[in-house]
Amino acid sequence: GDNRPDLSAFWMPFTANRQFKAEPRLLAQAKGMYYRTFEGQEVLDGTSGLWCVNAGHGRQEIADAVHRQLLTLDYAPTFQMGHPIAFEFAQALTTIAPPGMDRVFFTGSGSESVDTALKIALAYHRARGEGQRVRFIGREKGYHGVGFGGISVGGLVNNRRTFVTLPGADHLPHTFDLKRNAFSKGLPEHGAELADELERLVALHGAETIAAVIVEPVAGSAGVLPPPKGYLERLRSLCDKHGLLLIFDEVITGFGRLGAPFAAQYFGITPDLMTTAKGLTNGSLPMGAVFAKREIHDALMQGPETLIELFHGYTYSGHPTACAAGLATLEIYAREGLFAHAAAMAPIWEAAIHGLADLPNVIDIRNIGLMGAIELSPRDGAPGARGYETLVKALNAGLLVRATGDVIALSPPLIVQPAEIEKLFSLLRGVLASLD
Ligand code: PMP
Repeated sequence: GDNRPDLSAFWMPFTANRQFKAEPRLLAQAKGMYYRTFEGQEVLDGTSGLWCVNAGHGRQEIADAVHRQLLTLDYAPTFQMGHPIAFEFAQALTTIAPPGMDRVFFTGSGSESVDTALKIALAYHRARGEGQRVRFIGREKGYHGVGFGGISVGGLVNNRRTFVTLPGADHLPHTFDLKRNAFSKGLPEHGAELADELERLVALHGAETIAAVIVEPVAGSAGVLPPPKGYLERLRSLCDKHGLLLIFDEVITGFGRLGAPFAAQYFGITPDLMTTAKGLTNGSLPMGAVFAKREIHDALMQGPETLIELFHGYTYSGHPTACAAGLATLEIYAREGLFAHAAAMAPIWEAAIHGLADLPNVIDIRNIGLMGAIELSPRDGAPGARGYETLVKALNAGLLVRATGDVIALSPPLIVQPAEIEKLFSLLRGVLASLD
């Protein structure tokens, strides 16, 4: 239709920052690397939607699989029974999982995956007779979705201060010192000592009170912050030393974003639990998954009967149609070698994004795999305004970017080709050059 829909009833996701009140642009169609707006303008997708459409938009194979599944078995529960495709999809996922992480719990989103992983951590300790381990440690600037679990361990203070949160959540210091690392390529140098802050929290509370540490291997929503060298290694060894579970939130980094199936393989560090969503179904249907080490699954499922009250699961855990979308997505990733392709594109991506370093207002550029961030200097008295202006101007110029405050975040579909990388940064150069 050509009539713009009534925009009043849909309560859009919102932020406390109410300074931006323009009518939203409408993305009405999508294919491959491009959106098409309601008015018919082509928009290059620089963000894979919201970091999720890794195989590109409008994939026929996914559409066909979903269509078939809807007519075969649209929905069936996985409480006290099952259905074939959930088992099949979980099994397929284990073929790309980090070593030993071959138990998969299905959820409906990234936030549900985070809640699930936190609850598994508590229940695991409880099953082993260490039920006093109830504290969680996240990271300043960490983002783990908007459930009460996620905002509690999350380190973006604005996202949680209006709400009550879980007691006993602490946050490790921010991993990235902008001044010492601006415009550097690769991982920041100083790092292991930041992970040592975990020792401070352990000394403060006692290891025996802490259940788990949760981090994004690369912080995404805070503005693409790769971990300093040695940081994740040190977290792993400290968690082992103190009996804490290590949870990687791979909702963004999972499914090839860094050129490996997961950040765990990219960095060579295996967590105990891993949360995923987004690229799991190529963003086509809402779904998440938590990967667990087999020992964790077994400790819970073969643990003492006193855990009889243990209950967790969602109506849509293992939703058949979402599983069909996920299986078709995995097949595309494999057949087209998209993770390897992402790895091959990463150096081209790095060279191109750092090509913007000469522009005014640009105070840092960061990249890893097919993730990137361009940090802009904030406007006096109006933090976020320059970022938002960039988003709007980019959209008008035919490019979708994400603005988190004054950081412009980028994460193109993994199918991206060098010509599209060149186009993306040439459009962005024009936009950034036009900012005052
Ligand atoms: N964790 C991370 C690292 C995320 O980036 C996100 C979403 N951007 C979430 C969790 C929450 O996922 P969802 O929005 O699907 O609930």
